[in-house]
Amino acid sequence: MSLLDELYQDLILEHYRRPRHHGELAGADVVQEGINPSCGDELTLYLKATDGEGIAVSFEGEGCAISQAAASLMSQAVTGGTRHHAAELSAAFQRLVRGEKPGLELGDLQVFTGVAKLPARVKCALLPWKTLDEALARLDANGAADPAEPAG
Ligand code: ZN
Repeated sequence: MSLLDELYQDLILEHYRRPRHHGELAGADVVQEGINPSCGDELTLYLKATDGEGIAVSFEGEGCAISQAAASLMSQAVTGGTRHHAAELSAAFQRLVRGEKPGLELGDLQVFTGVAKLPARVKCALLPWKTLDEALARLDANGAADPAEPAG
């Protein structure tokens, strides 16, 4: 089995064909664009603050199977959790695809372990997480600027 075959594992192809949390998120607090010029991957990430410190994420995009499956698995992993957990997962995922120890239980996200061996694909897998980091930073900035925003 080639390295590329190994990379395109069933779970990645499954999420590419039937992405979860796909489409615009009504009432999103942040809409963040992300691009990976080296592959041509494009992503629009929708981030919404929910009760307490919770968040919900969805996405739309076009690009390779790795980038789109990563966006689907990322949205699934962080939706329903806290902002803090999302930031921790993001840091751990970035360590994983760089071939380092993630330092956190990553569950399904571990299917991207093989990406570390293909430097050209690392940016594809990182695109949704980098975009999430930017969106979370903007959400924090929004919260600080507009404390009067109704909680829902
Ligand atoms: Zn790509």
